[in-house]
Amino acid sequence: MTESQNLHRVAVITGASSGIGAATARTLHAEGYLVALLARRRDRIESIAAELGEGAIAIQADVTDRAAVVTAAQQVQAELGGADVLVNNAGIMLLGPFSSEQRTDYRNMIEVNLLGAITTTEVFLEQIKEGGGDIVNISSVAGRTARATNGVYAATKWGMNGWSESLRQELLPDVRVTVIEPGVVDTELPTHITHETTRQAVQQGYDVATVRPEEVAEIIAFALNRPRHLVLNEILLRPADQLG
Ligand code: NDP
Repeated sequence: MTESQNLHRVAVITGASSGIGAATARTLHAEGYLVALLARRRDRIESIAAELGEGAIAIQADVTDRAAVVTAAQQVQAELGGADVLVNNAGIMLLGPFSSEQRTDYRNMIEVNLLGAITTTEVFLEQIKEGGGDIVNISSVAGRTARATNGVYAATKWGMNGWSESLRQELLPDVRVTVIEPGVVDTELPTHITHETTRQAVQQGYDVATVRPEEVAEIIAFALNRPRHLVLNEILLRPADQLG
């Protein structure tokens, strides 16, 4: 799709204050989308929206707070005319050995990474359906390969993958659901790890990360711009006794 074909398509990006979300907001805006940047750090999203200029708005919203997400959806409807694309990107990766000491981390990861995406999707769904839109869920390689010390983070991403596949089948042909599974990307993700020795070890890996968030943003834009072969998908998903 060209820049002009994206004009007036509205993309809502959660976790747009840094890393992959900020890069996605910049990339989609450059491709002609109107963008709504959602995150908790108001100063960060306001500064990115100001840098982008016309067609970009910042909305402070914590994805674990449904009332805030509902208010955000109302603002997107009123100011941009409703969402066509939702990028569920907000996430935290609080790695460490499994132990009761990390139990708050576990709850937080499930509430942000999994429930946050589910809540944001159910709140925005009617807007997205209206325009025949897209949902892009940012999962991870940890959604397919679990390792020691990443169990609950991996569980949130495995959960996201299962939920996304069900949603993908259910929402066709109105809405296309896409899952993106990055590996190590150079962002501030590891800086929030509360288990000190794990944070230091993981940070070492991130210090030599070669994938930039802009590259993931390009993949997201590429996926959104692909033609939608929904008729074929619909036929393939019909129960076998209805085929042929
Ligand atoms: P960042 O830490 O840079 O970005 C995370 C974003 O999530 C921030 O904008 C943060 O904004 C937001 N966020 C966190 N908690 C909440 C909340 N409760 N409500 C709303 N927003 C929230 O890391 P990345 O860019 O790397 O992470 C983006 C996504 O990519 C995550 O889902 C992550 O799991 C996934 N991913 C990242 C990989 C990597 O190696 N970097 C690899 C695979 C997947 P704020 O604090 O302002 O609210």
